[in-house]
Amino acid sequence: MTIVSQVKFQDIGVVVCEQVDVTLPALAADEVRIEPAFIGVCGSELHVLAGGHPFAKPPMVTGHEISAVVVEVGSGVTNARVGDHVVVDPIMACGKCRACLSGRFNLCEPPQVAGFRAPGLGRSSHVVPARNLHLAPKGLAMEILAFAEPVACAHHCVSRMPVDAREDVLVIGAGTIGLSIVQALRIMGAQKITVVEPEARKRELALQMGAHRVVAPGELAAEERFTGVIDVVAAQATLTEACTKVMAGGTVICMGVPSGPREIPLPSMQRFERDLLSSGMYVPSDFDVAIAWLADGSFDTSKLITDVFPIEQAADAYARAKQPESIKVLIKFKN
Ligand SMILES: [Zn+2]
Ligand SMILES: [Zn+2]
Repeated sequence: MTIVSQVKFQDIGVVVCEQVDVTLPALAADEVRIEPAFIGVCGSELHVLAGGHPFAKPPMVTGHEISAVVVEVGSGVTNARVGDHVVVDPIMACGKCRACLSGRFNLCEPPQVAGFRAPGLGRSSHVVPARNLHLAPKGLAMEILAFAEPVACAHHCVSRMPVDAREDVLVIGAGTIGLSIVQALRIMGAQKITVVEPEARKRELALQMGAHRVVAPGELAAEERFTGVIDVVAAQATLTEACTKVMAGGTVICMGVPSGPREIPLPSMQRFERDLLSSGMYVPSDFDVAIAWLADGSFDTSKLITDVFPIEQAADAYARAKQPESIKVLIKFKN
């Protein structure tokens, strides 16, 4: 028997660091055993914790943003060795459907994402398919590596936007993902980045991440238009603004998670070929780019990782993540 520590949503609003005595499962040929170094706290998890998520409900082990060490590999594993530093793609796709066969594992239905429908990664020992691993250089700090998942989200989002629409981009919302998108836009060659954000402190951060200009909601001039708009909020007001502020022939990306149906101004969209696209999670190559950006320092996490809590204080980590002064809160495991 082995003692495993896990971060568990015990009930709605209740986070515990739990010790469980388990017999570690044997590995299948294509599986690896990992031990996390850090997990990141995500806004989507706060939604689960509050009881507001459509299918993930407490009690459950949480965690989908992770840096980890490989401690054992199955007999058929060729892409990882014991001691490797890794990120785990939390999308546990079927591998057989049309989406999976085309490499778009993020579109596999129903989505089996660790920490939602699939078991969370926030346990001191966990078994995952080797296919979900992305290797990182050992020189990259594990704390920074834990930020690879939001970076992958941001890279995927910007990749969805046609290159010519990236010329003069408006980003609506500067939380963890909005700020990561600003950095991705800068790295991927956007010439001008404008950010709309209500909180002054986050506007300041957006400038430090590479935005050329920041404004509060309602401050854009009525006639201003952008080649591309990324709506990281997906409320009715922000989606309306996105569709109104994009120029003819431009592209709107819906990146936020809408809480319900939304109206769009279809007449002006249709007549002037304003396209509305969406971005949902990421594909494996997004993780490889994310790790490369973190490793070569082009993506800077120093102002985005605001707090680190030991696993024993997991409840404090989630309480902190609810406060507006925090950006990314990490939970540190023992190893
Ligand atoms: Zn997340
Ligand atoms: Zn599938």
